[in-house]
Amino acid sequence: MRQVQFLEAWSGGEAGQGPEQVVTLFRRVYGQEPEGVWSAPGRVNLIGEHTDYNAGLCLPIALPHRTFVALSPRRDHQVRLVSSMTPDACVQVGLDGLQARGVTGWASYPVGVAWALREAGYDQVGGFDMALASCVPVGSGLSSSAAMTCSTALALDEVFGLGLGGSDQGRVTLIEAAVKAENDMAGASTGGMDQSASMRCRAGKALRLDCRPGLTAMENVTQVPFDLKERGLELLVVDTQAQHQLNDGQYEQRRSTCEKAARILGVDNLRQVADQVSASRDPAAALQEVLDRLPDEVTRHRVRHVITEIARVDQFIEAFGRGDVHEAGRLFDASHDSLRDDYQVTSPELDLAVDVARAEGAYGARMTGGGFGGSVIALVNAGKSRDVAQKIADGFQARGFHEPRALAALPSSSARKEC
Ligand code: ADP
Ligand code: MG
Repeated sequence: MRQVQFLEAWSGGEAGQGPEQVVTLFRRVYGQEPEGVWSAPGRVNLIGEHTDYNAGLCLPIALPHRTFVALSPRRDHQVRLVSSMTPDACVQVGLDGLQARGVTGWASYPVGVAWALREAGYDQVGGFDMALASCVPVGSGLSSSAAMTCSTALALDEVFGLGLGGSDQGRVTLIEAAVKAENDMAGASTGGMDQSASMRCRAGKALRLDCRPGLTAMENVTQVPFDLKERGLELLVVDTQAQHQLNDGQYEQRRSTCEKAARILGVDNLRQVADQVSASRDPAAALQEVLDRLPDEVTRHRVRHVITEIARVDQFIEAFGRGDVHEAGRLFDASHDSLRDDYQVTSPELDLAVDVARAEGAYGARMTGGGFGGSVIALVNAGKSRDVAQKIADGFQARGFHEPRALAALPSSSARKEC
């Protein structure tokens, strides 16, 4: 059997390899020293899936895997960029007269951040030279894109003296610029969970994100204790490398089913129903009453997922908080089973990875992200990730699936200056 691809984080505590790589690249391409190095993490959502557009809850952590940018400001309005993924191709873009969707390819993300800050009135943001390197797997649903936009935003904040990176409130402005860069320059639709996680997560904590409309960015975030290390645990993340197929209309279908159901139930969003159900004396009976008011079997399944999943977020926080790892794992399992059976967004790869993780002694395992591909997470004892990942890779090989790749995560810190 082939050895599983296991991706180590570069910084891993002593922050060595990432800054070094990116400074070396910067020197080689621009022939001088960068003004500094900044980094931002990828993220993974622990629980609360397909709840964001239902005004629900989700619970991301920052990965130890980060994107590093070495950057120096320029006196003009030109931006030069190089990524270690294509180290021989330096991209150059002018900021003057730049319009939405005016840049294509990966450069649209960092250039988009500068553009978005300028659009927000931060005229002092000018041109810059930047080199970028990352150990966040790209395109796996672990948010390499937010790691890139958030590290860029923090770098620009400092070199152009915006004064935003040092406070939560200021970071909210940087998050908005990162979101605008992805949505309006890169043309990649994103809701903001990824950027909030990358900018606001803390080591040893999960970020409880409340997606109800009308909450300010200061009100919608709570830091929740999630110290895996202290409990002798770690989070295995397995990227199935199966194709995302969210673009074939499945995602929009789920969304519109939820919106229709909310209209039938006479509420603005399913969160309102979820809150009523969980506040009632007999939540199971209250849920059944809600489902009985829906017109068809498919809608009942979809709504049951959303309502039970929103409840599981706080149940998970509570279970982990009182040290009940088995119950926390059971909630992972329940989340996956609900996404498989009620919401129907899993795939053979996701289901197999989860089944193998459970059989190999994980406390619980579930798909994470939109589904139809992407990644799986499993709560395992510290040091067990590689073994469980190997078993999953063996299972994939036997079934003729793509080779997966894996990493081990502890909840890590948000965007920061490295040196
Ligand atoms: P995810 O955020 O889940 O990794 P996305 O599709 O949102 O997936 O973002 C992936 C895109 O981000 C890539 O196609 C590429 O354009 C860009 N990207 C991410 N990291 C890098 C990097 N280190 N170098 C160049 N481009 C990158
Ligand atoms: Mg992304």
